[in-house]
Amino acid sequence: MDDTPDNHSESPGDHAVVLGAGLAGLLTARVLADRFARVTVVERDELSPHGPEFRPGLPQSRHAHVLWSRGIELMERLLPGTTAELTAAGAALLESPRDFLWLSPADWFRRVPGAGMLIGSRELLDWTLRRAVLRDGRIRILGGRLATGLVGGTDRRSVAGVTLRDGGRLAAALVVDATGRTSKAPAWLAALGYPAPAVTRYDSHLGYSSRPYAVPKAAPDGSPERRWHGMYVQGRPDSPRGGVLVPLEGDRWLVTLIGNGEHAPPTTDPEFLAFTRTLRSPALHDAIRDAEPLAPPTGFRATANEWRHYERMDRWPEGFLVMGDAACRFNPVYGHGMTVAALTAQALDEALAGLTAAQIPAQARRVQRQTVTAASVAWQIATSEDLRYPGTEGPPSDRATRVLQAYMSRVMAGANADPEISAAFFGVLSLSAPPNTLLAPGTMLRVLSKWRLPTAPRTTADYPPHHTS
Ligand SMILES: Cc1cc2nc3c(=O)[nH]c(=O)nc-3n(C[C@H](O)[C@H](O)[C@H](O)COP(=O)(O)OP(=O)(O)OC[C@H]3O[C@@H](n4cnc5c(N)ncnc54)[C@H](O)[C@@H]3O)c2cc1C
Repeated sequence: MDDTPDNHSESPGDHAVVLGAGLAGLLTARVLADRFARVTVVERDELSPHGPEFRPGLPQSRHAHVLWSRGIELMERLLPGTTAELTAAGAALLESPRDFLWLSPADWFRRVPGAGMLIGSRELLDWTLRRAVLRDGRIRILGGRLATGLVGGTDRRSVAGVTLRDGGRLAAALVVDATGRTSKAPAWLAALGYPAPAVTRYDSHLGYSSRPYAVPKAAPDGSPERRWHGMYVQGRPDSPRGGVLVPLEGDRWLVTLIGNGEHAPPTTDPEFLAFTRTLRSPALHDAIRDAEPLAPPTGFRATANEWRHYERMDRWPEGFLVMGDAACRFNPVYGHGMTVAALTAQALDEALAGLTAAQIPAQARRVQRQTVTAASVAWQIATSEDLRYPGTEGPPSDRATRVLQAYMSRVMAGANADPEISAAFFGVLSLSAPPNTLLAPGTMLRVLSKWRLPTAPRTTADYPPHHTS
């Protein structure tokens, strides 16, 4: 194979290539470096050596990103010290709903402990992870290099490398596609004679619009102390507009507005603020009405849940894997994509246990099947919640989903009143606890004892979010 001049693979058998330096790509590279002598991450964007910067390959970084406690824990296990680096650089480690106010479809959650969340700009997160990954001398990142296809092995049943837009090629024993939601893996596999994967897709037509603000000096009521660090005013099917306010490093807030279908939020100036007046609570509008915007709003519409079922394919090439959003992506409103990328990296680590670099390529099919199960719970949460919205396109909900939806409505109503239900709910939402925690007899009893509470009251408490409960 013609290798590019900067290919550091003297022996392709020792070399793994990861496509995409997003969260999935970086964590995958970290895991593979324990098995391969060299790991090359190929990234289409030029990567700034100077610090966190927006890059076009990661357009979602303009929108609020929350890393749930399970993701924090796994990131820390793979790259120790990362959380401290992030908080030292200004990211916030918060507890929801204690210091992150949350209006559920029923009412405001009480200010009680729930689940940890790491919040900062996506640029800071990627920059910090990139530096942490590069401390391992076995890993290198080639920025500004677009992968354009797979190189088939001479045995016609394996992948032996990748082609790059500049005409170069990289030889490798293992290639991992972590190029995110724009992945071209189906076309690349077709070029090698493989059929397209089956796809399951649910689209609730959720639109995003986000805008950064300078944090105002005083709380909206004029008192100097603001007793919250962020908030989420959640929409619901009869009022499908919501908004989230998260803190960013550099004394900024990022406000992300959301709405389904015709309720998609505007990306124009006075309309952005006006939209916040139409939410279920005035709290978000009150927080930002006098704040100074730092940039115009930016929209994002490609929010469908999409699972490309590579794990179901009858034939699968040796030496190839698809990870992260490239395999399974979610409606981002539940904040799960990055935590699932971390769960998948952990599943990869487990699936490769005891294997040498020479043995891994032949195990690709099993590994693909094993790792993708890391996405199952997040998929179930996102799709069953999206199916509450009548405009959602996708396979209809079955009886089990409808029962789950009804029970979850009760859980959320109960969680507003009972800290134990709230803790169980946030444990599951943060992917820290399995969903059946909510079905444990003690929790079920507590939930059912609150059956009189309305699940979608006409009015919600006029909760002053800068006061503790
Ligand atoms: C609007 C929005 C908000 C979100 N909010 C949250 C949130 O709050 N919490 C959360 O956990 N998740 C959130 N997510 C999901 C999260 O962004 C992803 O799940 C996460 O980044 C993991 O994705 P990834 O690494 O698979 O892909 P990405 O992060 O998209 O990275 C893919 C990388 O591949 C590169 N690339 C693409 N094509 C090529 C190519 N041909 N050759 C080389 N490189 C290539 C891209 O430049 C990019 O760097 C959100 C997503 C969106 C869209």
